[in-house]
Amino acid sequence: METKLKSFLSAFSSLMDYENHSVWSHWMNNVSDLLDSDLPSAYDRYTQAYGGAGTLNDIHFSDPWSLTLFWRLRSILTIYFQCAEMNKEVTTQLGEFENSRPEDLKVHCCSSCGARFVTQRDLILTEIPNKINTLILEEIHSTPMKMLWERFSLARKESVTLLDQLSKTIDKDWFIVKSDPYFRPCESCQQNTLKLQHFKYDGQSWSMLS
Ligand SMILES: [Zn+2]
Repeated sequence: METKLKSFLSAFSSLMDYENHSVWSHWMNNVSDLLDSDLPSAYDRYTQAYGGAGTLNDIHFSDPWSLTLFWRLRSILTIYFQCAEMNKEVTTQLGEFENSRPEDLKVHCCSSCGARFVTQRDLILTEIPNKINTLILEEIHSTPMKMLWERFSLARKESVTLLDQLSKTIDKDWFIVKSDPYFRPCESCQQNTLKLQHFKYDGQSWSMLS
């Protein structure tokens, strides 16, 4: 259990380095070192990273891969620490990783002309959790040759291909845009009538959630 905990902490530390938060990178390495002496102090140190202002709760990630990895690592680390504390089997607590489906897609819909806009970032964000969940499950159930961070970085490099595949699932009439059309008029009819809606994918097409 400790080996796995350490590999997740190491990925967390690498993520923080990548995002230029060296303080938090050191923090996670420190948590990892504490594991060698005792688990409760390591867990304490870990949870202190989230207490109040100026902590990890305030950090913003613009990159969708970093953002998702951050939340997935938070989740799996909490599961590991809690299981260790309560003497539970980690493999019985992995539902959120095992039953993952594509995330909802944010679509900016125009109520005047019916035009629909999705950003590349939101589109790719529908599949990233699945990819990262798979990497995390591999880490738990096997002993991969490459470190988690390395495997994650390889997956992130495939973004263009992933975006290409996902674009094909989108209705041809929709616009795939680079930046968020928040607070801007509709590009098709110039009216201020864009509204954000959530869509779900059923394997064939995207449909609006009521
Ligand atoms: Zn419009």
